[in-house]
Amino acid sequence: MKCYRCEDIINDKNVSEEHIILNACGGRLKSKSLLCKKCNSIFGDKFDCELAKTTNDIANLLMIKRHDGIPQPISTTRTSTGEKYYLEYGGSPVQAKTNYKIIPEDSTKSRLMIDAKNRKELKKTLIGLKRKYPTIEVEKILDAAEERRFYINDSFEINSHIGGNDVFKSITKTAINFYIHQGGSRAYIKHLLPYLEGNIELDIVWMHYPDKDIYTPAKDEVSHVLKIVGDSKEKILYAYVELFNLHSFIIYLNESYDGVDIDNDYIFNVHNYEVTKKRTHIRLSRAGLTDLFTNKDAKPFEKVKKRYARILTIANKQQDKHQIHKIISNAIDNSLGLLPEGTVIDEKVLNSMINKLMERMMPFIAHRNNIKNIN
Ligand SMILES: [Zn+2]
Repeated sequence: MKCYRCEDIINDKNVSEEHIILNACGGRLKSKSLLCKKCNSIFGDKFDCELAKTTNDIANLLMIKRHDGIPQPISTTRTSTGEKYYLEYGGSPVQAKTNYKIIPEDSTKSRLMIDAKNRKELKKTLIGLKRKYPTIEVEKILDAAEERRFYINDSFEINSHIGGNDVFKSITKTAINFYIHQGGSRAYIKHLLPYLEGNIELDIVWMHYPDKDIYTPAKDEVSHVLKIVGDSKEKILYAYVELFNLHSFIIYLNESYDGVDIDNDYIFNVHNYEVTKKRTHIRLSRAGLTDLFTNKDAKPFEKVKKRYARILTIANKQQDKHQIHKIISNAIDNSLGLLPEGTVIDEKVLNSMINKLMERMMPFIAHRNNIKNIN
């Protein structure tokens, strides 16, 4: 086992685990025989974080679970008010800033109105204000503060983009990882390493949204798709990478390929972690592949829009499922969960649980109906 970047032998001291598809995107296929520790961190620092950043929104909304946790909150703007918000895991909006207003009532008194996302933020703001207004009684206000939980029937704007040099490099690395992992030879990809290291520029990656889907996911399925084709007749080696069935890329790995024929797929469901045995449909001729890189200006907006619509619909279903699960476990925790062990569950206890459940479920149902009406 040699590191494909520096060719050092991989041993106990320099071993590192490489995610073939980024962990940030929920990739679970890993290998310890691709890159040594040093090279793994060089590549990771160089461009993987850019791909992680640009796919974070989708990973968050789809509620992807990573090996080391969950995606970052999304910074966003509430459409009707222009206020800054964060969308937490699964798209729950939380206001970014604490808002306050001081309204003079007469010459000696003023009314203070504060709207904070939680008690901790409220306390912080009150302590800050106390410096300017020493009569503020922080603890008294904290005690009197009212907590409210509500659904916002409004839209939030997210700026999403994909592409750019670093994203293309990260995608190229995914393709190389998969190729080497499948037993491919370093000889056919080593000319790409100076490109990954930023020493040369190459035009070998491009977005690819074909008219006919290369892979057709099942209803509500979201998968990552990897494909490697080595064609000894056409003398080409190329890869296809599709993330979240949303963004897809062609990577032209070698244009004078004289190795064995390869046709390998890896299709990984990001929610149930299953690897399907289904196959992708892509077979490019040398001329067809060259054409993809010479006629790049065709703008695939309509196809991308269709894919976004599908993914966001699935994301909504995921979020609803998550929300309902949260409501139910919260109702149980706050009723049955508070009883000492061994308590007999009688009608009174059950009613209290149902009340707790309905208290949270009704606003949720009303909110869902509201959204349906808006749509
Ligand atoms: Zn190395």
